[in-house]
Amino acid sequence: MAHMKTLTRAATLAVATLIAPAAFAASDTAEPVDQTVYEGRETLPDPTEGQCDVERSLVEFKDNLWRHTNGSFPATHSGLVLITDEGALVVDAGNTCVAKWLQDEIKTRFDADIKYVVMTHAHFDHLAGTQVWQDAGATVIAQRNAIEPIIGEKLPVATPDRVFDTEAEIELGGETILLHHEPAGSHSNSMVQVVFPRQQAMQCTDVCQSKTFPYMDFLDFYYDGWINTLDWVIEQDVDLIDVGHYNDPATTEDIVALRDYMVDLHDQVLARLREGMVWDQLWRTITAGNEHKEDWFGYDNMRWANIVGMYRWVNNHRRGVW
Ligand SMILES: [Zn+2]
Repeated sequence: MAHMKTLTRAATLAVATLIAPAAFAASDTAEPVDQTVYEGRETLPDPTEGQCDVERSLVEFKDNLWRHTNGSFPATHSGLVLITDEGALVVDAGNTCVAKWLQDEIKTRFDADIKYVVMTHAHFDHLAGTQVWQDAGATVIAQRNAIEPIIGEKLPVATPDRVFDTEAEIELGGETILLHHEPAGSHSNSMVQVVFPRQQAMQCTDVCQSKTFPYMDFLDFYYDGWINTLDWVIEQDVDLIDVGHYNDPATTEDIVALRDYMVDLHDQVLARLREGMVWDQLWRTITAGNEHKEDWFGYDNMRWANIVGMYRWVNNHRRGVW
């Protein structure tokens, strides 16, 4: 009898599959990662596991594209969420406890499961919680370079299921999502920009800024690739850019202003080093960023650190007559 039941269920399923509209079939152009190599890998304790008492939200961004946030200003972490008939695609997580909440929220509000997770880069603050969704069946995509630091730093996050080098595409529920990586690095060497062409929107975490000075002394920094990335972002000319932190999305105009500041800061530091200025003279004469003293966040607590970071980069990447 039990056998009969199984057969009947199988037959019903087969018929349902046949008569179902030839709907969508999620797919992507990334390559599989051999997960068996990393099975049982050592991870550090996850400090966000019990961090449930933080602000969180899921608000509409544009045309079925939503934005999830957690934390409180100014360290709010954010990422975009695309809802389709085939399930959701979520960019980053940022907190393990909040990831569980977000999974339930997406299920309750949209009756959708998380099908794809895109990691913007291998920094723990953006990836905490991705393992929750992977465990629930989501496919996790990252740039290939993300694997090394995730494993090497023992990050308690998902080990990517699939990776790509410079460009990849995801098809989900009739939507196309484009992933881009600048080979020269930018903020880490695993940075991914995520473009939603139909919505004219983009996820550009940490490299793009929304009326703020870049964070501290440019952690995990590659100047040339950062500028290349900003050039690429400007070229896309999308309407809305989520920067992974803070409250407001950025516009292309904001990215142009950020590029101008970074190049100005770089060129000023380089010129002064070539003049033979020592650090103590140099930092006092930098004027880059003064034009944003009023309209950008962080003039007092970020700009000085920006000078330190740029000085370090420039000094490490020049040689004169020996
Ligand atoms: Zn980062």
